[in-house]
Order: sequence, then C-alpha cells, then structure tokens
Amino acid sequence: MPSETLDRFLNENLQELKDQGLYNEIDPVEGANGPEITINGQKLINLSSNNYLGLATDERLKEVAQQAVDSHGVGAGAVRTINGTLDLHVKLEEKIAEFKGTESAIAYQSGFNCNMAAISAVMDKNDAILSDSLNHASIIDGCRLSKAKIIPYGHNDMEDLRQKAKEATESGQYNKVMVITDGVFSMDGDVAKLPEIVEIAEEFDLITYVDDAHGSGVLGKGAGTVKHFGLQDKIDFQMGTLSKAIGVVGGYVAGKQELVDWLKVRSRPFLFSTSLSPADVTASTKAIDILMESTELYDKMWENGNYLKEGLKGLGFNIGESETPITPCVIGDEKTTQQFSKRLNEEGVYAKAIVFPTVPRGTGRVRNMPTAAHTKEMLDNAIKIYEKVGKEMGVI
Ligand code: PMP
Repeated sequence: MPSETLDRFLNENLQELKDQGLYNEIDPVEGANGPEITINGQKLINLSSNNYLGLATDERLKEVAQQAVDSHGVGAGAVRTINGTLDLHVKLEEKIAEFKGTESAIAYQSGFNCNMAAISAVMDKNDAILSDSLNHASIIDGCRLSKAKIIPYGHNDMEDLRQKAKEATESGQYNKVMVITDGVFSMDGDVAKLPEIVEIAEEFDLITYVDDAHGSGVLGKGAGTVKHFGLQDKIDFQMGTLSKAIGVVGGYVAGKQELVDWLKVRSRPFLFSTSLSPADVTASTKAIDILMESTELYDKMWENGNYLKEGLKGLGFNIGESETPITPCVIGDEKTTQQFSKRLNEEGVYAKAIVFPTVPRGTGRVRNMPTAAHTKEMLDNAIKIYEKVGKEMGVI
C-alpha cells in the first residue's frame, strides 16, 4: 500500500512548483549532443552544452571506447577497492596526474560525487571551510556533508576572504581551515583570483581546493585554471570533471601522492560505489591525450567563443564580464528571460534561460556555450536569430 503521506507531499509540492512556473520540463535530445541537436523533431543550434571541445562525439574517442567494450566489457564489476580497479582506471589516473602536473590523481564516477567524496574525506566538524559565495552546488553539498563550519566569502572578494581567513585561524576554534573555489564560474564565465587566494592561503596556512570543472580544457592551453596561473605546486586539490571539455563522464582530484592515498581509503564513493565503465575511462584517457598533443580544438573553441561574443556585443547585448568562451546574455527580468529563450528556441537556437535562484534576482540571462565543434555558419545563424528576437522583444 503506497504511503498517503508521500502522495500528499508530492502532489502538493509538484503543484506548487507548476503554479509558480518553476517546474522544469525536460525535453530529451533525439540523438547525439553535438553543436546541433534535435528536440521534438526540430533541429537547433546548440549553445547550452558543456561539450567545450566537441569531444563528446569525437570519432577517436568513439573508436577507443568501442575497443574497450570489446576487451573489457561494459561494466567494471565492483567498487574500486574490491576488484573494480581495472588496468584502464590506473592508466586514466596516471594520465590525469601528467595532465595536471601533480604526483598523483584519483578518479570518481562524477564531478558531483567527487566533491562530495573529497571534501568530506579531509574536513570534519572541528574544521572550517571558506567558500566563495557563487560556488557550485556540489561544493556546497560536499562542505555540508563534511560537517565543517562553512564560512562563505563574497564572490571573488579577496578582502573579505583575507578577513575571514584571519578570523577563522586566529580564533583557535578549528583544527584545519580550507579555502574552496570554482576555477571558472559557470554562470558568468569569470575566473577565480587564484594568485591572491594562494597568497592568503600561504599567509594563514589554508588548505586550497579548486573545482576546475569549467576551466579544464578551457584555460591554461587546456590544462586548466591552476596551470593558467602557473600554480600547480601551490594548490592542494585540483578537482575536475571528465564530463565537460573531456566530453565523457567522471570526476577527479589531482594532487600529492599522500592526498590521493588518503582519498583512496577514506572517500566513500570510491569505497562503496561501482567504478567508471571501461568505455568511459578509455575515452577520457584518449581525450586527455588529444588535449596534451595539440591545442587545435582549444584554439578553435577560443576563436568561436570570441566570434560569438563580438557578434552579440556588436548587436548591443549585455554579455557581462566573461573571461572565457562562456557567453552570458543578460536580459534581467526573469519572465522576459524565459520568454527570450523560448523565442530563440522557436527560431532555431537552443540557449537555456538561467534565472533566480541560480543567479541573483533581476540578472536573468540566456547562457551560451560556444564550442570547438560549431561552424562559423552555425554561429552566424545564431547571431542573426539573436538579432531578430532581440529587436522583436525590445532587448536591443
Ligand atoms: N563542479 C562544477 C563547478 C560544475 O559546474 C559541475 C557540473 N555542473 C560539477 C562540479 C559536477 O560535475 P559532473 O557533471 O561531472 O557531476
């Protein structure tokens, strides 16, 4: 007999979300998630995926993934610490460490679970975590899981961070204090001030943790935000995901050997959740190889990013202060932003509206993620559609 309490809870809450227009309907993509996608039979220019380098559909990755299925099967068969560590996982971790310039690395099943795993394996209730106020949900959840005291600091506000680092360390209340930040902030495309963060961390002996989900493949000739600033020896945790620029799925931490040794015995998803599949691991290793061998895709992504930015800015759109190919188009009011995104969609561009609570009220935006896989023709068409809808709605 199904629970009546659960039924009541679900019905009331789902209805409330629908009444407020906050229920997110999901439209499946029919086929691959490339620079163009098909949704409900309509072909759209895709400006919403994190597939920065176009590797999600790269033939070289598909080929090695298919070979891995033939040689190793479709599943790893167990958690990493029983016998789910295949030779392929070891190869991937060695490759990540080489890519990130660290002694070692550890892979997880996703970026989200990596943050949950790694933060809580090191921090506990006697510790404090200084966290940028715009950090990703998985960082917030990882911090909560650790039970450490969470001390948010203003977004990229180094004065605030210094002050709070001073207070936290001088209070003598905490055993360890960590500073944690996204490398690239995905809603605005701005970059963490890592050199200053490292300076503050050195002054107050903070543990440093950078989530480079949106920086890897995108900055530092592909190696990420930490490399971009030349700080490989100064950041304790270089966290990243295999699901965005790398084009596959999975997460990782790169760092010192002892840190990885500890995570291997104390981070719970590593111990209790089945490891990444052979195809995922092999395709990710190949993607990193490609990135390390050539900057061709990286250069193309930047070229496309700059092209789209110039095009939209030239039309009079507010594209914010992005320092990466992420191109927000700030519309403002939530309803207008939703309507703008819907009209773009009807005209042939898929660019998702991002509104409160993901971004502050009144700063609703349509976020564009140009990739290496877009052609100039696709971007020109997208810019034309932006112009049409922008004029029609009085946004430009
Ligand atoms: N960190 C950041 C900053 C992210 O943007 C994301 C993905 N949205 C994640 C972590 C989670 O990564 P994954 O999708 O691999 O779980």
